[in-house]
Amino acid sequence: MPVKTDWPAAIKPLMRKYKGRRLPLNYHNTYELLVMVVLAAQSADEHINALAPTLFKAFPDMHSLSTATPQSLFPYISKVRNFGHKADWLTEIAKKVRTDNNIPLTLDALTALPGIGRKSANVILREEGRPPEGIIVDLHVVRVAPRLGIATGEDPKKIEKQLMDILPRQQWDAGMAMSFLGREICHPKPDCQKCLMRPVCAWYRKNVAPKEKKEKKR
Ligand code: SF4
Repeated sequence: MPVKTDWPAAIKPLMRKYKGRRLPLNYHNTYELLVMVVLAAQSADEHINALAPTLFKAFPDMHSLSTATPQSLFPYISKVRNFGHKADWLTEIAKKVRTDNNIPLTLDALTALPGIGRKSANVILREEGRPPEGIIVDLHVVRVAPRLGIATGEDPKKIEKQLMDILPRQQWDAGMAMSFLGREICHPKPDCQKCLMRPVCAWYRKNVAPKEKKEKKR
């Protein structure tokens, strides 16, 4: 029989564990945050942290970036995946936004900018301490949420919608908590023995618990 889980209650320990944990991007202001979030899509955060100081020395704010050509960014970001498109997006964003004070901080306005989807916009709003307008669903959450059984499928937008339906708004930081769990424990090969979500995890219940039971009987 399928197990019915009270997710608002079940997700609490995970949210407690990662409460207030900052994104591992070393930004110092909203401008740097936005640029680094765009660059970090499908790239490792450490890689973006390593190149950021020289990039921001050359382009310290939105105004300086608004005068740049995409090609002038290449020497700083050429090792980033998809750097050609990212250079286009960043210079287009800067031309639209023009100054740091003008950086929009709503989901609609952020997602209207090139290269910023719902995931990036949700991340920027979270890091800026704004009330959540959605739930962060990155590659880790796409793996972790269906394993837990809190959502199904592989489409980030559909997973986000399911999470928003199942969790009250005050728990919408659950996306970031699941992302941290995915980075640290629920890897593609999950380390279930270290995971505090075992008692409610569908994947654990189906794939790991029966083996453990058998081994105990031996
Ligand atoms: S119990 Fe295992 S599969 Fe489930 S969330 Fe934790 S690490 Fe992932």
